[in-house]
Amino acid sequence: MRLDFNLEGFEQEFATKKLLLHSCCAPCSGDIMERLMAAGIEYTIFFYNPNIHPLKEYELRKDENKRFAEQHGIAFIDADYDRDEWFKRARGMEWEPERGIRCTMCFDMRFERTALYAHEHGFTVFTSSLGISRWKNMAQINDCGLRAAQKYPGMHYWTFNWRKEGGSARMIEVSKREQFYQQEYCGCVYSLRDTNKWRLKNGRPTVALGVKYYGRDDQGTSCT
Ligand code: SF4
Repeated sequence: MRLDFNLEGFEQEFATKKLLLHSCCAPCSGDIMERLMAAGIEYTIFFYNPNIHPLKEYELRKDENKRFAEQHGIAFIDADYDRDEWFKRARGMEWEPERGIRCTMCFDMRFERTALYAHEHGFTVFTSSLGISRWKNMAQINDCGLRAAQKYPGMHYWTFNWRKEGGSARMIEVSKREQFYQQEYCGCVYSLRDTNKWRLKNGRPTVALGVKYYGRDDQGTSCT
């Protein structure tokens, strides 16, 4: 595997060997996890995604990520499914498009909690798998990460571009090799609604939860 960072560089930049990795799902974090392991960076997975709806989909995504972490002996923090708070914050943004202000709120909420956990548990740097998806706006994610880190003195958000050096392609390779569960919408109820609307307009069946797995049938998207 070709690595675009190493432990030495990481230590020089952040003066620590430890990283808290906010993970949105197994497909997005699989390659990142393997790159971090290969570089020798000590990391913990923080799964905090109260945006994912419904509960069945949340459990599917979380269990897949947990299984892969356990397989590699990586600590996995299963944080709250703080759904009520997410819906409270999303009020008035129900019809916003993807990559708009609802998504900024969604990243802010997830990173605020990640930064808090990092602060309370001796981490001084965190990052997220969210940025590896080509459907996401990297600058928007980085802004949210940096804003959350600013709340705590000495805390950093690692803005590394995980798509670099073939990251996007390897994300799919790892997902196929591991036959990860393949989600077909970003996560919230509004992204599910909009995906289904688009599908019906284009003569495609609506999203079926818990049916698609990478490497078994190759249609659809990763974390959008
Ligand atoms: S579309 Fe995705 S990032 Fe945007 S609010 Fe919904 S779950 Fe969050």
